[in-house]
Amino acid sequence: MNAVQSDLRRPGLRLRPFRCPGCGPSLLLQLSDDEMQVRCVRCRGTPVHLSLIQALASHAGPLARLDAYELSTTGALLRHLRRHCRSVTTSEYLEGVAPGRSRDGIRCEDVQSLSFADRSFDLCTSTEVFEHVPDDRAGLRELHRVLRPGGRLLLTVPLTGQQITRERARRDGKQVEHLLSPTYHGDRLKGPGKVLVYRDYGNDIIERVLDAGFRVARLWTPPQSLFGHARPVLIAERD
Ligand SMILES: [Zn+2]
Repeated sequence: MNAVQSDLRRPGLRLRPFRCPGCGPSLLLQLSDDEMQVRCVRCRGTPVHLSLIQALASHAGPLARLDAYELSTTGALLRHLRRHCRSVTTSEYLEGVAPGRSRDGIRCEDVQSLSFADRSFDLCTSTEVFEHVPDDRAGLRELHRVLRPGGRLLLTVPLTGQQITRERARRDGKQVEHLLSPTYHGDRLKGPGKVLVYRDYGNDIIERVLDAGFRVARLWTPPQSLFGHARPVLIAERD
């Protein structure tokens, strides 16, 4: 049996035509039931990225008028923003690099203390970042600060479905105190299992975003489900 035949017998493997919110007519591939194993075969968009792209289409207005800031330097969402927005600024959090400085062409920013001027952007986006930010409230206040009046924040985080956010760890200076057993996520730059999860978000993330100064905030579930996966997107707007 050759490799292709054996692959087609894998449990959970599925392939179907679909209209990708990121790149148009395409095929949707599922390698397993895991959300991260579902992708558009053309733009490589995951359900997380394609949910956020759907939210942009219905809640961000014409992207060609927007200066965007995305808190990562790779992925289908970023490629979509680069194709459609007036400008796109990107960054990663890089240990040992001062905010605003670059290493290997990648700008370092700490979302808790951004180096951008007030009112620099019309749109801020992030996927699966805030659960790793020690002081997420400071990070949300910073995104509010760098957005222009009427600007929008669209982000995803893993949500438990519960109401109340569960804090897993807290940081005091360089010391991390674990309140629950440590959980780590993978990261493209740092490798698998390297990035500490500080909290498991509940639906009260909306209140944290409002506390940071945003005028409105809500969780929006995209209409298009990708083999059962559709990620709620936090959509917020500043005055
Ligand atoms: Zn696509």
